[in-house]
Amino acid sequence: MNFKLKQQAFKRDDFICQKCGFHNPNITDLEIHHIKPRVFGGEDILDNLITLCSICHNYAPDSEKFFIKYLNEKIDGKILDTFRISTYSISKKTKRGMNLSFERGNLVTKAPLGYQVIDKQLVPKNDSYVVQEIYQTFLNQDISLTQLAKKYNLSVNGLKKILTNQTYLGKIKFAGQITDGQHQPLLSKQLFEQVQEKLKNKGWIKG
Ligand SMILES: [Zn+2]
Repeated sequence: MNFKLKQQAFKRDDFICQKCGFHNPNITDLEIHHIKPRVFGGEDILDNLITLCSICHNYAPDSEKFFIKYLNEKIDGKILDTFRISTYSISKKTKRGMNLSFERGNLVTKAPLGYQVIDKQLVPKNDSYVVQEIYQTFLNQDISLTQLAKKYNLSVNGLKKILTNQTYLGKIKFAGQITDGQHQPLLSKQLFEQVQEKLKNKGWIKG
């Protein structure tokens, strides 16, 4: 696509991703998407072009019909911000790999406490019982987060992450979405939810 046309499309869309509202006048992390793909006879004309951020672009369906539906489902670009920062330095090919992993419910981040990574899958470690122990202790004992964190040599923030991490239910989170993973859960849904309830009641997490 010629540079001038690309510039025109960015300009028309005010350098804003038309799905999530991400704005960047320097064009970093913005892409021009063909509404009707070139492989299906879509043309390089302004009417067939639209500005998307690289994340929304990565997920965009090829079919025009599904694309319009996708485009109309607006999301708040802010929820993608941490992901943007972490992907500035990685290649598009890697990102595509991450998206594919996500679709297959595979691991895409580093292993949380209690798991290790084997062949890109989360596998419980021998000491994975410690996760359940932390949850049980938190639920059944009158212990502060600071005390509990100290007991397991964790930071309070690290402990909060453990106590709210849905990975332990067999879920994975990727680009702001939660989906079923392929790994073994370490906790029952009931225990997890009781802990969330206690965290909220104590005012330690918002909810
Ligand atoms: Zn976007």
